[in-house]
Amino acid sequence: MMQITMPLNFLGTVYREIRQALVDMGEMFGLLEQPAEVTDKPDAGPLNVAGGAISLDDVRFGYDAERPILKGVSLDIAAGQTVALVGHSGSGKSTIGRLLFRFYDVTGGAIQIDGQDLRDVTQESLRQHIGVVPQDTVLFNDTIGYNIAYGRPEATTAEVIEAARAAQIHDFIESLPDGYETKVGERGLKLSGGEKQRVGIARTILKNPPILLLDEATSALDTETEQGIQDSLQQMGEGRTVITIAHRLSTVVHADRIVVLDHGEVAESGTHEELLAAHGRYARMWAQQAAEDEEESPVTA
Ligand code: ADP
Ligand code: MG
Repeated sequence: MMQITMPLNFLGTVYREIRQALVDMGEMFGLLEQPAEVTDKPDAGPLNVAGGAISLDDVRFGYDAERPILKGVSLDIAAGQTVALVGHSGSGKSTIGRLLFRFYDVTGGAIQIDGQDLRDVTQESLRQHIGVVPQDTVLFNDTIGYNIAYGRPEATTAEVIEAARAAQIHDFIESLPDGYETKVGERGLKLSGGEKQRVGIARTILKNPPILLLDEATSALDTETEQGIQDSLQQMGEGRTVITIAHRLSTVVHADRIVVLDHGEVAESGTHEELLAAHGRYARMWAQQAAEDEEESPVTA
């Protein structure tokens, strides 16, 4: 993380928003530096988000020319819908997230948000409209209040508390000796994985983005903590367009649509019930995970 935060520190508070996106993204995607190829067009204007509809039209992409990763992915997500991306590790799920953030440009096809091609708008405005809850929320060595307010530095104390309440971490914070002034991070109080996720959720609620990208946001948590966080994430998703990348299929059951990626192509798509009834790839993944869960926690009563 040092590579990202150190040089940008010198650029001042104007870049806090961008830096946060980079830190979250870096954490989420394991990117240590921003790829340099992507630049704004000279006449790029701000992204105007009406409802946050996302469309991928025959998207092709590879990190290098010899090895295509996405081989013509088409996907329409209506404003306010929740779409889950599932598929084996390496199938290209996180790559779609990186392209949505325009860390890279597509090599074929197009991605649009509310009808605007991502290549025609400024990266700053694009990233302002997308909220991310990464797998492991980065905490700064500062107060817990600061860490939440990071989502929107100009927020009032009342707004910070409201976001903390919505993320169900307010009561926990109040129970700390110094409340919102408690120092956290490497040199302060250590938070559990679930508590850190809640700080990340509060941060994102405060940022109030119309589009949310959740890349295995809860996969590092134990099942019980995960359930609680999933409820908060689901609440946060109300009225927003959500792309959720999930490892455990139990977390995507309620998505409006589930898209199964396989080697960079859409193999199947539908609701949980539709996909189970189709007896295809998803149904097999579902059966396999159910069997694994059974092994992990055998029913004893
Ligand atoms: P998923 O999230 O579905 O597990 P990814 O989208 O992260 O998969 O990765 C898809 C493929 O792209 C994988 O084969 C992965 O090794 C490759 N890949 C991911 N990031 C990079 C990168 N920065 N450079 C080269 N190849 C990459
Ligand atoms: Mg991934």
